[in-house]
Parts: sequence; C-alpha cells; structure tokens
Amino acid sequence: MALQGKEREAFEKKLEAYVGIEIGIEEATKGPIDPSTIRQWCEALGDELPIYTDPAAAADSIHGAIVAPPTMLQALILPGMEMAVGEDDPRNKQRELHRLFDAEGMTGVVATNCEQGFSRYLKLGDELQAVTTIESISEQKATALGIGYFINTRTVFQDQNGEEVAWMIFRVLKFEAAEQPQAAPSDSTGAPAKPTRIRPTMGHDNQFWWEGIERGELLIQKCGSCGELRHPPRPMCPSCQSKEWESIVSSGQGTVYSHVTIHYPEVPGYDYPASVAVVDLEEGTRFVSNVVGCEPDEVHVGMKVQVSIEEMDPDFKMALFRPAK
Ligand SMILES: [Zn+2]
Repeated sequence: MALQGKEREAFEKKLEAYVGIEIGIEEATKGPIDPSTIRQWCEALGDELPIYTDPAAAADSIHGAIVAPPTMLQALILPGMEMAVGEDDPRNKQRELHRLFDAEGMTGVVATNCEQGFSRYLKLGDELQAVTTIESISEQKATALGIGYFINTRTVFQDQNGEEVAWMIFRVLKFEAAEQPQAAPSDSTGAPAKPTRIRPTMGHDNQFWWEGIERGELLIQKCGSCGELRHPPRPMCPSCQSKEWESIVSSGQGTVYSHVTIHYPEVPGYDYPASVAVVDLEEGTRFVSNVVGCEPDEVHVGMKVQVSIEEMDPDFKMALFRPAK
C-alpha cells in the first residue's frame, strides 16, 4: 500500500533527517593491499592483465609496479563475515534508516546502481579508509517491484595520506513488494495450485535452443567457421569470433563434473532438496541442470547420466538428467 496524505508527509519528514549524514560506521582495508589478495581476485574473476600480478610486466608498464584492479574497490573494504554483525551496530545510521522503511512495510531491498570514480590506481601497500554519506532519498516511486524509495549513498575512499583516491555512489530501492496474484485452487480440496517453473528469457540468440527442447532435442551450438561447440548459446564464437553458426543434436550422454544439493532458498516451482549438476556432455560441452530419479546424496562426481527432456508444466519442457541405465 502506498503511503498517502498526512502519513506520507510524516514519514518523509523522518527521512529528511537522514539526508546528508554520515552512516557512522568506519570502513577500511584490514592492512595494506598485498599481492596475494590481488592474485586471488584476478584468479576468481579470470582477469589476466599482467599489471596486476606480474612484477616484471608491471615494472615495464606506465604504472612502474603492480597495481590493484579498480574493480576491487568495494571488496577491499567489505568486512566479510562481520558484515552481518555490523548490521546491528547501534551507530549504523544506514541500518536505522532502513528500519524506518521496514516499519512501514517496505522490507524489500534491492541494489539498483553502482558508479565508481578513481583519481589514481591503487598500489601495493596502500591502505584505504572510507566514509559513506546518505546523499539523497527519492520521492515515493511506483516500480515494477513495488512501491518504495531510492536511497543514494556516496562513499569517499582516502589513502593512508588522507588523499581522496576513489568514490562510489550506490543506490538501493527500499520497497514494499507488489502483491502477487493468488494461484487458483487446483482442485476441490481448495489447496493452491503448485507454482510453475520460472520461464526462460527468450531472445534472438537462444530461441532455437528452446525450440529444440520443445521437439525433444538437446542442441549444442557449433561454430560455422572453426567448428567449435559452445553452450550456452551466444552470437559469436569465443575462439575465432565468427558469427556463423549451426547446431548439432547431443546424444544427451554425460558425466557429472560437479554438483550441489540446494536446500535453501526455496524458489517456487522446484522440489527440494534439489540436486544441481554440471555435466560434461560426451560431445565436449558442459550443461547445468537438475539430476532427478535418484536421491540427491546418490549424485556423485564421475556419475554417468542421461538427458531426459521432461514436461515441467503443461506448456513447458526442460532438459533434466537422470542416472544412466
Ligand atoms: Zn569459431
């Protein structure tokens, strides 16, 4: 329900008190920026630019020595596991502001924008301190997610000499979720109908693949120039940059490369616990889907599986895996 009239005026008056104030929580790197942290970041993200990890290459660059990837900025000050504890810190004005929204039913929060600016590259040995200010709060907005307010914060990063080296504007929407349509009762017992699976976003690049599933075929995209197979479907070959492509029908035979069992959070339309596996198809590409037809704890690395294209709802099929016979 949107806040209206006097109630809304009173609420927005309370919000005004927070605009322009610092959130009251110090954020800082825990010690100087070091090469192993940078290396782990680069490995995790697959960033192979040598100025981040190769001292000789960095020495030859305009930087003269190793620098940190700018994208590490926020991660450098995030407090890790302490974050959840810091949420309840009574000095935390940002949390206090969020609680005002919670009290009005706007319990949802979603990050919508992040902008960053840099005065210089961060170097080994730099230590950062960051101060965050609540910069602005929007008017009440009706969004696709529900009714709420956008909150902008600005974080200024200073180095060990007190010089500003970077800034970040972060925007979240605090909102009350729009009402979901009630599922119609499925039968005379009055129990609600089982939710259906989330539908894929269908576009120019993946429509052929879902049409294959409808026909009962698991397709793999094949480069029209060099012949390399790829999945998921995309417009360009990662090896030769050709935009020509065709597709082959997979045998559906594969081997579990890796797997997890998901207990939580429960997304409507799935049965839990759900086994999810990365499968090496015999053609050489990998495919991620649920393994059904056995208990989740029976799924193991190296297990032989077979694709099974099954009807999830009356008008929707998906490729699942079952233990190979
Ligand atoms: Zn190619």
